[in-house]
Amino acid sequence: MNINEMDGEAKKILNEIKGKTLTPKERMAIAHQEMPSQDPKERISNMNEVALGYTESMAMAEASRCLDCKNKPCVEGCPVSIDIPSFISRVAKGDHKGAYEVISSSSILPAICGRVCPQEVQCQKYCTLGKALKDVDKAVAIGRIERFVADWNKDAEVPPVSAPTGHKVAVVGSGPASISAAVDLRREGHEVVMFEALHKTGGVLSYGIPEFRLPKKLVEKEMDKLGKMGVRIEKNVLIGRTRTIYELLDEDGFDAIFIGSGAGLPKFMGIPGENLVGVLSANEYLTRSNLMKAYDRKDSHTPEYLAKRVAVLGGGNVAMDAARTALRLGAERVDIVYRRTREEMPARKEEIEHAVEEGCNIIMLSQPVEIIGDENGKVSGLKIRKCVLGDVGKDGRRRPVEVEGSDYVVPYDEVIVAIGNASNPLIKLTTDEIEVNSRGNFIVDENGKTSMDKVWAGGDIVLGAATVILAMGEGRRAARSMNEYLRSL
Ligand code: FAD
Ligand code: SF4
Repeated sequence: MNINEMDGEAKKILNEIKGKTLTPKERMAIAHQEMPSQDPKERISNMNEVALGYTESMAMAEASRCLDCKNKPCVEGCPVSIDIPSFISRVAKGDHKGAYEVISSSSILPAICGRVCPQEVQCQKYCTLGKALKDVDKAVAIGRIERFVADWNKDAEVPPVSAPTGHKVAVVGSGPASISAAVDLRREGHEVVMFEALHKTGGVLSYGIPEFRLPKKLVEKEMDKLGKMGVRIEKNVLIGRTRTIYELLDEDGFDAIFIGSGAGLPKFMGIPGENLVGVLSANEYLTRSNLMKAYDRKDSHTPEYLAKRVAVLGGGNVAMDAARTALRLGAERVDIVYRRTREEMPARKEEIEHAVEEGCNIIMLSQPVEIIGDENGKVSGLKIRKCVLGDVGKDGRRRPVEVEGSDYVVPYDEVIVAIGNASNPLIKLTTDEIEVNSRGNFIVDENGKTSMDKVWAGGDIVLGAATVILAMGEGRRAARSMNEYLRSL
């Protein structure tokens, strides 16, 4: 069905239930509204958003399925405790502005979270309706309704700012953790200066997650909001090099600092051949495509090489994003090489399905052991060792066990390594008072406070590579504690 037909079906449902007080059984019988999306054949030749979003009728029909449970299990599953039944019941009644007010009292990035949050393992996992229907995919589509509400209210006013307090706060980084912290600090009336190392703000929202999943104009809109609230944004400032944390506190007059510098250091496999031409980290690959428009081979300053056969190593969201980008950049074959099975892949189910629909292949139970090069030092293939699944490991997933003597070589001309990211060590290296754990993540207390006086941190720099909503929650938690500290000065 195309979007018009889907909208027609939703209108029929709304007509049938109009004016009725529905019983839970009747609500459960309402058809789950699928998300309209671009045709896979068309979308692999453009960068436009794949998911098209609910129409108003679809959002209202989906919202009418909610049982308005007294115990609100979905709220328990939301890392920022959005009052989900309350905003959904408003959508069901057509009060989309009221719904936005409910969401924005807990979350400041609903258009982004509605698109990229892993709802199937958060709010929707706990939804009574999904449980009753024994299918998490049939739970109330909370994320899709959230996205509808955010898009409907895209021109909502910026949060009000209190009178100046005379205190000055630095926020390092401009990803979701820093955006949330900056908003809550500025709301309080503090002068807030945000320092971003790159020439564009938004963190992974801008340089990691591709346009076809998260349109950059939405991220720019959020950054504009910060500007309208009076947050000063300084780009191309690398804290730890341009200015150190000590200099910000001792020379530049900042009363407190929030660090949300993320986990931008790509990990490699440590196998032979990783230095060959044509091997890239997913970080570099996606940054070049998203931020520097490397897909534009005519006009980009650093155009992406046209690879025909691409191997992507890994099974998370980052691997799916890299693989789907490679297809859009013109690759004829894209293989996602993963050492477990599809069931164990950490990527969102929807992202895996989209990648497969678009034509990516998943080579499961396969461990890359060597990247092969030609006489010019360029990638020509990948040596892969077969695996079987062994015992369940500490993370609850079955471990891959390599099968000796099963190696084989597949020809490729590009290999993208997407096996995870670690925190960038620069700030730690220039700030010895900040304690880190064995993985280099900042150690903070229950308020996001680091071991150093006047310095808080949150997001991936604390959690390791995590999620947008968790990073946001961390930013807000730290801002609460910072506001308390600044009030006491
Ligand atoms: P970041 O978003 O990493 O932002 C950190 C910012 O700090 C960056 O802009 C960086 O340039 C800047 N910075 C770093 N060091 C310095 C310094 N020394 N001085 C100044 N600035 C500095 N999560 C989801 O929930 N859903 C998804 O679908 C999803 N997909 C993802 C896809 C990809 C490709 C990647 C890489 C991640 C994905 N994630 C997803 C994870 C999510 O994006 C991160 O968990 C989240 O962005 C972390 O937010 P943050 O604010 O801590 O850091
Ligand atoms: Fe509605 Fe599901 Fe939350 Fe119950 S658990 S209130 S049905 S969204």
